[in-house]
Amino acid sequence: MRHQKEQMKTNTLQSKVGLIILRAEHIGMCFGVRDAISLAKRVVKSRPLTVLGELAHNASVLKDLRDRGVQFNVQPSDVKTETVMITAHGASERAKSRARKSGLSLRDATCPLVHHAHKQVRQLATDGYHPVVIGRRGHVEVRGLTEDLMESDVVLSENEIDALTPRQRFGVVAQTTQPIARVRELVGYMKARCPSSEVRFVDTVCQPTKQRQSAAEELARKSDVVLVVGGVNSNNTHELARTCRRFCDEVHHVQGPDDVRGVWLPETGTLGITAGTSTPDVLIDAVEARVQELSEISREKFLQSRVALA
Ligand code: SF4
Repeated sequence: MRHQKEQMKTNTLQSKVGLIILRAEHIGMCFGVRDAISLAKRVVKSRPLTVLGELAHNASVLKDLRDRGVQFNVQPSDVKTETVMITAHGASERAKSRARKSGLSLRDATCPLVHHAHKQVRQLATDGYHPVVIGRRGHVEVRGLTEDLMESDVVLSENEIDALTPRQRFGVVAQTTQPIARVRELVGYMKARCPSSEVRFVDTVCQPTKQRQSAAEELARKSDVVLVVGGVNSNNTHELARTCRRFCDEVHHVQGPDDVRGVWLPETGTLGITAGTSTPDVLIDAVEARVQELSEISREKFLQSRVALA
């Protein structure tokens, strides 16, 4: 792999002095987050609205919504508006009914693919499997997936699988934004670790996450440096960065154009850009423009130094 990159670098040097900027084939905001943002913008035009939690893990998107009058709150008890919105991450029926009982009117922006995960885990429990969610404990989507179940476990590592109480039947689903390769690895480990149990896995990782993960891998394989654009709270952005680090030595997680540093940019070679499912196109464009600007500056310096040497 390193050899291929070195080869690519050499070819680039021979053919042209400059930086090649590549974007991942699948990049940025998914339809679930996009639809939730559109719904919030529509609702707040007609009535005051509070969103329960972060609608998108991205500071610029949240600022835009706040500027339009949308309020954000985590606890329904702190809400000052009559109407509240559930984010694309979803919520348990228990949490929704608590909110309704306290007099709140609900708008539900749960992504259909999160609804699908809810349906699958409920079905596994109904069929007599002990539900196990591969995901980040405490994450809002995972809380929504598990809160209605009589019992369940959440795991994200081999150690946590080792600590599971033995059961005859385990029914496994995944948080929608977990990397599918790692999920399959953990399911395989669980099967090997519990040979006398039936382990039934239903793949609930969403298609946009799978596409962004495989496109990020392809991008990282071709790049000397990768920039991953997304919010600090975005789980899938962190997962994209983790995937890229497996295939590229220099990966930077940036929230926007101001985070890009000139010293990261190679004078020649390939810089890849990818972005999480909460990152708007405008931010990806701004990061790319900043890279262009910084590489122009260093190109100018390079040309000036050649003139000085001549
Ligand atoms: S990441 Fe997947 S599950 Fe989550 S909102 Fe986007 S499309 Fe839906």
